[in-house]
Amino acid sequence: MTTLFKTLIFILLSLALTACSQTNALNKLSLTAEYKTIVHDNVMKAAHQKHIADNGGQDGHYSINNRLKNLTKKIIKANGLTDKNIEVILLKSTSVNAYSLSSKSHLAYVYVTRGLVEFIANDDQLAAVLAHEIAHIALGHHLKRQASSGNQFNQSQELEADQHSIKLLKKSNFKLAETIKLLERLDIFQAEQKFLNQADYPTNKKRIENLSDVIAGI
Ligand SMILES: [Zn+2]
Repeated sequence: MTTLFKTLIFILLSLALTACSQTNALNKLSLTAEYKTIVHDNVMKAAHQKHIADNGGQDGHYSINNRLKNLTKKIIKANGLTDKNIEVILLKSTSVNAYSLSSKSHLAYVYVTRGLVEFIANDDQLAAVLAHEIAHIALGHHLKRQASSGNQFNQSQELEADQHSIKLLKKSNFKLAETIKLLERLDIFQAEQKFLNQADYPTNKKRIENLSDVIAGI
């Protein structure tokens, strides 16, 4: 199993709408990191179980799970994303995080922590987080990272995921302005948490500018 896990590349990134940190210590401090794992098909399940274990286990809260499933279904259906079976998992962790896991297999996972759901102001903001993760999956970013020597998404991939998420949200009839509002709230939250932004991750200001341009042109 150790060898199996050695083949995994664990990537700590900031979630839709946050900055990112690379170490576990920072992750615990920041509450806003995004954790992405790139795997080969044969270790997909092992990585999935590890994600769940590392985040306090799966949270069975009935109405939150239903809310997440319905929002994900709405985005997938409106955009015809049927080539992947994207399953959304609620994690017990109180940190404010979202993650995604994808491989060449049919299955992909989006993980959302309980802390994130409690931070989010409304369904449009929760949909924005889900759409950002779904965008990484739809754009094949996990596989691109797997193919390269790097171990996390780069700035351009994050900005690309943001841009693509706006298209997904627009087709699903979500309020696009809520994505900006969420970024602005996260920026204040991260400043309060003394969150350390990573050099290769776009700042919230840059993400807001990027998204505002996309929304203006849509
Ligand atoms: Zn991302």
